[in-house]
Amino acid sequence: MSALGGGDLGFVPTMGAFHEGHLSLMRAARERHERAAVSLFVNPLQFSRGEDLDRYPRNEERDFSLAEGAGVDYLFAPSRGEIYPRESTTIRVPEITEIWEGKSRPGHFDGVATVVAKLFNIVHPQIAYFGWKDLQQCLVIRRMTEDLNIPVELEFMETVREPDGLALSSRNAYLSPEERQKAPRLQGTLAWIADELDKKTREPQELLAMAREDLTRNGFDVDYLELVSLADLQPTNSSRNAALIVASRLGTTRLIDNLRFDA
Ligand code: AMP
Repeated sequence: MSALGGGDLGFVPTMGAFHEGHLSLMRAARERHERAAVSLFVNPLQFSRGEDLDRYPRNEERDFSLAEGAGVDYLFAPSRGEIYPRESTTIRVPEITEIWEGKSRPGHFDGVATVVAKLFNIVHPQIAYFGWKDLQQCLVIRRMTEDLNIPVELEFMETVREPDGLALSSRNAYLSPEERQKAPRLQGTLAWIADELDKKTREPQELLAMAREDLTRNGFDVDYLELVSLADLQPTNSSRNAALIVASRLGTTRLIDNLRFDA
């Protein structure tokens, strides 16, 4: 496979099932570069057994026309065999992959790091665009590009949300109507904690415990809800350069969200 890149190329790696979140990244790439490339590949390496690889939403025709509408110049939708003709060499980013999403989804970030490195080498972009929606993924990719001296700049874009606050996600399609109604509580809870932290009403750990209880009472199966440092994703009691991160199951659907406090 020869490289696409050269010249001023912006790149958006995706797994398809496009929504406004994906489209916002594509528009940014389109506006800021001479040419924009998008990859669409549901990467088996980042799903563990028992996860939703087989039922992950796929609609390539719709995705092609949405990408075209967003002004994308190249849509790269390789087959599994093109990306993984044999068992692949893999990339393991240490430390920040061992907690939160990495702990709940063993091997997930090895799969992400490996496919993103391969896509960078195929596409050769100047800048690659990712969404803060997947905050830990952003930090893993940043660490990988730094550690391996990959000559790509990274740009992280704000999370696009439904009017009721729910972060757009391809997995929202799995929610029943009743779960869909409940789902914005995840973002509402983060906003409530941020507000209380700002007012300094209670200690962060007490607020987090109250928020976990509230979510559980409302039918969420909370995996984690923490205040973490953006430097290393370790729990912190300070909101400086930190983020609230949450993962929770609602029925069978795993939802993640976050709220960043900048420096
Ligand atoms: P995915 O197809 O889920 O792998 O996502 C492709 C890219 O879109 C990743 O960089 C995601 O972080 C980003 N993304 C997903 N959801 C959103 C959203 N609601 N707002 C902004 N970016 C998003």
